[in-house]
Amino acid sequence: MHLVIIGNGITGVTAAITARRLAPDARITLVAAESAHHYSRPALMYLYLGHLRYADVKPYEDWFWAENRLELVHAEATGVDTAARTVQLATGQALTYDNLLLATGSVVRTAGWPGQQPSGVQGFYGLPDLEKMSQATQGIRQAVVVGGGLIGVELAEMLHSRGIGVTWLVREPRYWQSVLPPEESALLEAHIRSHGIELRLSTELREILGDEQGRVRAVVTTTDQELPTEWVGLATGVQPNLALARAAGLETDLGILVNELLETSAPGAYAAGDCAQHRQPAPGEVAVEQLWYTGRMQGETVAHTICGQPTPYRRGQWFNSAKFFNLEYQTYGRVPAQPAADTASFCWQHPTRPHLLRINFRRADHVVTGVNALGLRQRQDVWERWLGEQTPIGVVLAQLAAANFDAEFSRQHEPAIRREFARQFPDIAVPKPRRKGLFGAW
Ligand SMILES: Cc1cc2nc3c(=O)[nH]c(=O)nc-3n(C[C@H](O)[C@H](O)[C@H](O)COP(=O)(O)OP(=O)(O)OC[C@H]3O[C@@H](n4cnc5c(N)ncnc54)[C@H](O)[C@@H]3O)c2cc1C
Repeated sequence: MHLVIIGNGITGVTAAITARRLAPDARITLVAAESAHHYSRPALMYLYLGHLRYADVKPYEDWFWAENRLELVHAEATGVDTAARTVQLATGQALTYDNLLLATGSVVRTAGWPGQQPSGVQGFYGLPDLEKMSQATQGIRQAVVVGGGLIGVELAEMLHSRGIGVTWLVREPRYWQSVLPPEESALLEAHIRSHGIELRLSTELREILGDEQGRVRAVVTTTDQELPTEWVGLATGVQPNLALARAAGLETDLGILVNELLETSAPGAYAAGDCAQHRQPAPGEVAVEQLWYTGRMQGETVAHTICGQPTPYRRGQWFNSAKFFNLEYQTYGRVPAQPAADTASFCWQHPTRPHLLRINFRRADHVVTGVNALGLRQRQDVWERWLGEQTPIGVVLAQLAAANFDAEFSRQHEPAIRREFARQFPDIAVPKPRRKGLFGAW
């Protein structure tokens, strides 16, 4: 069996390593245009910050690939003939496959603003972008970031770390409002501003202005302001990279359409990770998942199917985490920006410090359905158990210390959280917290 994988991101690499374990005799080829070896995309910003070197963000040593008989081809795949089962490379070479996995990731979404062409205007997705940004921001004093998601905050932090003034344009009236409830947005807005970022809400980019040398000199906003700038970071989201799938004639919509086995519309061709779109996502789930850990899970799942163990993709409990400057954010289960009518939402905030804990639970039986934590590190294993076992909020609050990752630093908040719950939900009893046993177990 020859498995050809296009893309050496977390999805492609996880599939390759899993397939090697399941099919020791298979020939496995990884084709990748961006870098010769796999690196951690979420760690890109730490290269700019100077906290890590490139070698540090490569999870596997360079010898690992040959040692595991994973053939690496550092080239762009330009076409696929799904009938003849061949992949065309930009080098002129062709590869014949038995099974093909498209793990082509995402591309930066840009809205096509007037004047977008000057140099010093870019998105941020991969190594070439990092290189471009490092050069273009050398010695500059003022930058504009456009778009209010997680890449936006990374860009703001990166620029800020080099003493560059940052104006951040966010279209929505509150930060990340499609994802976060209002209290979380307000806390983050204050936190981001406390780091000296000029966060402008309800403000969109209208036009980019260049100078005579073709370099960006200013942006014009929808509030009719002209803001001088030497660099513009476009962080208005990413979209599945469909170029190769379209060239191959595969069925696509927002992403490459796949069934629960991650099979595309062509026999022997699969898609997984950021580039895939589930034809029938489970109720309440998204069709296109653009996360590191879902890429890893999809890569592992699809390798089983390809290696003769058909395995439907089931993501399990939703979780995500991020950092807003030094403030950690974690979410487990479902915490939509607005709770559904059958869901109650308890929110505790520290009166003066950036700490917030929100727990959603069903009104009918008080079973917890999701948690948001800001500035308080929670234990994933504990929350997954509580959510999986349909634990009532009273029990969760009584045992809250079990989920506390930094028990020494934040233990003191638990009594305050329970007092606040009793104030907001006086009719729901919370059992007396159990004392820690001799060996620290609950
Ligand atoms: C700056 C940044 C920070 C992020 N931080 C987080 C985070 O903290 N947590 C989180 O969960 N997610 C994060 N993400 C998202 C996460 O990185 C992605 O969900 C994940 O990398 C997707 O993995 P993938 O393997 O599906 O695709 P990718 O990582 O995009 O890899 C696909 C690879 O395929 C290559 N490729 C595409 N087409 C071809 C072709 N025709 N020929 C050859 N090669 C090709 C591409 O060049 C690319 O290298 C971040 C993303 C970015 C951009």
